[in-house]
Amino acid sequence: MKSLVSQSVIDASDKLRADTMAKVNADPKLRKIYDDTRKEAQANIDRHKKMRLKRKVNGTVVEVEVADSPTKVKSKRKKSDRSKRIELLDTLFSEAIRMRDGFTCQRCGHQNKSAQAAHIWTRNNYSTRWDMENALCLCYMCHIKGFHSAHREPAEFLEWIHKRMGDERWEALKVRSMNTVKVNDAFLDETEKRLRKYLARWK
Ligand SMILES: [Zn+2]
Repeated sequence: MKSLVSQSVIDASDKLRADTMAKVNADPKLRKIYDDTRKEAQANIDRHKKMRLKRKVNGTVVEVEVADSPTKVKSKRKKSDRSKRIELLDTLFSEAIRMRDGFTCQRCGHQNKSAQAAHIWTRNNYSTRWDMENALCLCYMCHIKGFHSAHREPAEFLEWIHKRMGDERWEALKVRSMNTVKVNDAFLDETEKRLRKYLARWK
C-alpha cells in the first residue's frame, strides 16, 4: 500500500518540530511546562489496555489481540471494534500533533496543557483524518471560542494556514484531503504503525 504522506511532508513536519523544540529548549520555563505535559500525554497513551478485536482472516472471524484500547468510554452502547480503533487512532494522532507543536498554540503562541489538536480539513474525510500535515496545536480560544477562532471564522483560518504552509504544501494537502480511502484493517493498521512510530521518537 502506497503511503499517502510524501517525504516532503515528513521533512516539513520534522522542521516544524525542530523549530518548536529550539524555542522550548531556549527557555527553562517553557521546558518545564513541556516536560510536565509530555509526561501526562505519555501516561494518557500508556493507560490503554490491550484490546481483543474480532477480525476476518481469510473469510473466517477470529479473535486477535491487535492494539491498545482507547481511553475508557462511559457509554452504555457497546462500541464496535471499528469505532474503538478509530477512537484510539484519534488519541494517538492528537498526542502526536500536540507533542510535535510543543503543546503551544501555533496561532497566538500560548502554551497550555489543554492546547488542542485542531484539524485543518474536516476529520470526516479519512484520507487526511490522521495526516500530520492536516492538524496543528491551537489553544481553546484560537480553536473554538475566540471571535477569530478557526470554528467561528473558518475562511480567515484557512487563509492563515495557506500563508503559513506555502502554496506547495497547501495544494498537496488539499489534494490528499479530497482522496477517498478504504477504511479497512490494512489502512487502520498502517495508520497505527505510523503514528506509534512517530510518537516513539520522543519516548
Ligand atoms: Zn491561541
